[in-house]
Amino acid sequence: MANFNTHLTGAFAVSAVLSLTVYKAGLVNDSGFLICTALGTVGGLLPDLDSDHSTPVKFGFNIASLIVAFALVMHWRSQLSLVSLIVLWFIGYGVMRYLVLKWFKKVTVHRGVIHSVPYMAILGLLLTCLSYYGFKNDVVISWFYGLFLFLGALVHLTLDEMYSVNLSGMTLKRSAGTAMKFYQHKDNWRYGIIYALLILLLFAAPPFAPFWQTVANPKPWSQLKVGVLPDIIEDFLQGSEVI
Ligand SMILES: [Zn+2]
Repeated sequence: MANFNTHLTGAFAVSAVLSLTVYKAGLVNDSGFLICTALGTVGGLLPDLDSDHSTPVKFGFNIASLIVAFALVMHWRSQLSLVSLIVLWFIGYGVMRYLVLKWFKKVTVHRGVIHSVPYMAILGLLLTCLSYYGFKNDVVISWFYGLFLFLGALVHLTLDEMYSVNLSGMTLKRSAGTAMKFYQHKDNWRYGIIYALLILLLFAAPPFAPFWQTVANPKPWSQLKVGVLPDIIEDFLQGSEVI
């Protein structure tokens, strides 16, 4: 299995490059860019959250609690007074850090169902729903948030899978194929519940079409082509085309 630092770096690198790309294309704004990078990184730590006393649990939950607390304050910043905002910040942080973590530890089994693709898809969809219905964010950015969280988690599972291949001898370790999982027979009823929940969430989720239209629209991407390389190299390439 890949260790904590590898997960942190891997998920950060992938989500930072991708969110910078969509940011440059004008698909997300400044705060969207930062939040997408943060969510992708958090996503990269999520699958290991079920190892109860590990660094990732504490670290991941600290980050998640902070993000939730800040998101709450950002959302109600114009409606509430300063004192109420501070109280809201502490309540948001406390509920996440202590109540949700406690509940989370209770329902998870180490390296069980949480370390799987469908479970991570559920978390991504929940985030999209929370952003759209709860925080009344735009549908496109809500999908970006959920997908970035899911992407970070996929990076995690891929890294675990890669590390289960013994690189020196190119032989497979016993753990090969257990990281990137969709189903496991010993947890069959748990997976039943997970897939049922996934289907429910797919129905409940905000419409995907507006997001898809935005991403599939070639216009923002053509804008990206202009600024993809430093000016010096672009001038050079254009110069050589003329010749
Ligand atoms: Zn893992």
